[in-house]
Amino acid sequence: MTVGVWILGDQLWHNQAALNRTDDESALPVILIESWQQVQQRPYHQQKLVLIWSAMRHFAEELRGAGCQVTYTTSADFETPLKAWIQAHAITELRVMAPNDRPFLRLIQNLQLPCKISLIPNNQFLWKETEFRDWASSRKRLLMEEFYRASRQRFQVLMDGNKPVGGQWNFDKENRQPPKGKLNTPKALWFEPDAITQEVIEQVKSLSFPTYGNLEPFRWAVTREQALQVLNNFIEQRLPTFGPYQDAMVTGEETMWHSLISPYLNIGLLHPLEVIQAAEAAYLEKKLNLNSVEGFIRQIIGWREYIRGVYFYVDADYFQKNWFNHTQPLPEFFWDASKTDMNCLHQVLTQVEGSGYAHHIQRLMILSNFGLIAGISPQELENWFHSAFVDAYDWVMQTNVLGMGLFADGGVLASKPYAASANYINKMSDYCGGCKFDRTVRSGENACPFNFFYWDFLARHREKLQSIGRMSFILANLDKMSPEELATIRQKAADWHLRSQ
Ligand code: FAD
Ligand code: SF4
Repeated sequence: MTVGVWILGDQLWHNQAALNRTDDESALPVILIESWQQVQQRPYHQQKLVLIWSAMRHFAEELRGAGCQVTYTTSADFETPLKAWIQAHAITELRVMAPNDRPFLRLIQNLQLPCKISLIPNNQFLWKETEFRDWASSRKRLLMEEFYRASRQRFQVLMDGNKPVGGQWNFDKENRQPPKGKLNTPKALWFEPDAITQEVIEQVKSLSFPTYGNLEPFRWAVTREQALQVLNNFIEQRLPTFGPYQDAMVTGEETMWHSLISPYLNIGLLHPLEVIQAAEAAYLEKKLNLNSVEGFIRQIIGWREYIRGVYFYVDADYFQKNWFNHTQPLPEFFWDASKTDMNCLHQVLTQVEGSGYAHHIQRLMILSNFGLIAGISPQELENWFHSAFVDAYDWVMQTNVLGMGLFADGGVLASKPYAASANYINKMSDYCGGCKFDRTVRSGENACPFNFFYWDFLARHREKLQSIGRMSFILANLDKMSPEELATIRQKAADWHLRSQ
């Protein structure tokens, strides 16, 4: 029997389960495939293509250095090179670590290959699919906070026996500060492209199908060694003050104190456990503030694992969910930031074009908030997010965009819609100061679109929103508005859509 291993572009880890199953990894024939069809599904950010292909090529080099028989190929599809490789090496069993998304799993299951395919359970997350299912199946509601506590207990992270270190599970009251005065933000760690990356950049320049965003400057890490440097830099420079301004947004400050590690975690260059352990060790050794360390660890051991667990737990038709029946087309400015004069959207979209990155609150409270209150089709917005971000994959996109951002699942994930007017954006950012719209106006001349869409959204979905307990206070405010003003607001919202068509 000859075993061969197919390594997917988001499985670039030497201890990944398919490689790890043999005592003599170096004897294995291994294949990595760049597929043209795969990347034509949507207009991906050019930097995402460079990131994945360059990281795959670097990983192939590392495997060669370790003595593996590596085949690296570029092809339209996957099946053709797989068949040729299977025949050339007389492979009788093809091992693949189970992919993290359903569409790719289907693709593998539909391959017509002349050998057995073995799917090995994925080990790039802390919770296996079956373990999350066991946790979830006995619960009425899949509350992230409960999952987070279970996760801390299970992996004994920031625990003092059975109790959370510091006597509380969550220190968010000390976080979420608005940005005031001059913030001394740390410099992000970026990298100059090496020869391999430069070659990929040239290749992406010559692509003949539609893509998105700016190709250069390309500054992402493409090897595990560089990804570890980003992690260390974060632990040293950013983690000590990660918490307080976690939700703040400032013009020209694209990364604030955020870690910038999602692109690397999501392709296997970093493992969640080592990230958590590094943060906990820094807390213990350097006596860092618990609000920052706990706030960061919750993102990884809580949110990230939960988002992926829910993705595999919900029905396969989750991607079609549209609880509010929103059908407005995605405005063109999502593809071209110069086409909007709403400063918050202009700033964040320009940033995404430039790097394929925005931090959590920019994604949630600017981009998807606008999609939610303006009634944009969830599937169109999800497709845009999936195209535009360097860290986007099906497993993380669907539950974050459809569930958390757009409440399209009717509340499987979030306990209420994350809908907000200009009040929130003005409190948590400096965007409104440089905007032609008036953040204080909701129905008059120069009204901020976030304001009239917010009230229009509440009025449009009053009946549905009434069933959500946490919305009653907000709906009471809607009831205080005069019918005349509400009618003007709703007209403004309708006119905006007409104008943008
Ligand atoms: P930090 O703020 O430093 O957080 C640390 C890490 O926590 C992140 O690297 C990430 O791995 C993890 N994390 C935190 N929240 C989440 C979450 N909700 N889901 C998954 N992981 C989380 N994350 C992606 O990895 N890819 C995406 O395509 C993506 N799209 C998103 C779309 C929307 C609408 C929303 C609301 C969130 C999305 N997220 C996504 C989650 C989160 O915004 C990003 O993981 C984070 O902004 C990445 O930047 P960072 O590494 O600097 O994060
Ligand atoms: Fe955005 Fe409105 Fe503020 Fe302008 S005024 S930046 S559109 S929230």
